[in-house]
Amino acid sequence: MMVKIGVLGLQGAVREHVRSVEACGAEAVVVKKPEQLQEIDGLIIPGGESTTMRRLMDKYGFMEPLKQFAVQGKPMFGTCAGLIILAKRIVGYEEPHLGLMDVTVERNSFGRQRESFEAELSIAGIADDFVGVFIRAPHIVEVGEDVEILAKHEDRIVAARQGQFLGCSFHPELTDDHRMTQYFVNMVRESKA
Ligand code: GLN
Repeated sequence: MMVKIGVLGLQGAVREHVRSVEACGAEAVVVKKPEQLQEIDGLIIPGGESTTMRRLMDKYGFMEPLKQFAVQGKPMFGTCAGLIILAKRIVGYEEPHLGLMDVTVERNSFGRQRESFEAELSIAGIADDFVGVFIRAPHIVEVGEDVEILAKHEDRIVAARQGQFLGCSFHPELTDDHRMTQYFVNMVRESKA
């Protein structure tokens, strides 16, 4: 089945996700206006800088339309800053951004020495040798009861799924290994079927 996957195109690693979605045999659209959410079957919120992305989401009127998109049950995949945008709770902040996925995240949590690094990950149901690229990455501190933990690195949760929501700390779009994106594309196909 052909599915159309949007990549929120306000800020961050947008092109790389488009390339990765296309490599998985799905159609990709860069979403720059809320109206475009109506034509897509699933959405990727990329990495970048969550505070900047949030500012642009407010400026272009994305907050309510994105919550509505979620209410329709459509799959959403947040990577790095995108995971922070999806989370219900952010350590040290009073309010979340979209507040959709039942996880608590902590920003920039791997410390200064480890601003950016690669690590081989075992991701449940996806790959046992996946190279995760971490850039000033958050991690998931705590998950709600219907959240499935997919991967950990040094005892920290770095990938999880809750039904229609998928989130990871790293950047799955920055290598030529498209298995994580393929997993999301499959989620979108299942949800559309
Ligand atoms: N540190 C960024 C933030 O807090 C996330 C970094 C990334 O997306 N690579 O938003």
